[in-house]
Amino acid sequence: MSVEPALWEAFREDRDELAALRAARAGGMPERCLDCKEFLRPQRESLAEYPGTVRHKGLGRCFTCYERNRKKERTVA
Ligand SMILES: [Zn+2]
Repeated sequence: MSVEPALWEAFREDRDELAALRAARAGGMPERCLDCKEFLRPQRESLAEYPGTVRHKGLGRCFTCYERNRKKERTVA
């Protein structure tokens, strides 16, 4: 199967997202939030343990971006 280079490039972000989603489902999480690029910390860890991070909510996103993404999906669908 061959893919147009331009198309491949256009979907670069989606590929990154898929990799992050896979990591998240496997129990891990990406180093940074997929949307705002802030450093993530595991959901149960405190800010004191991970200074300067945002809490991981799910699907590779922090709480804020996860909620925003959910609303977006709802309105688009
Ligand atoms: Zn975020």
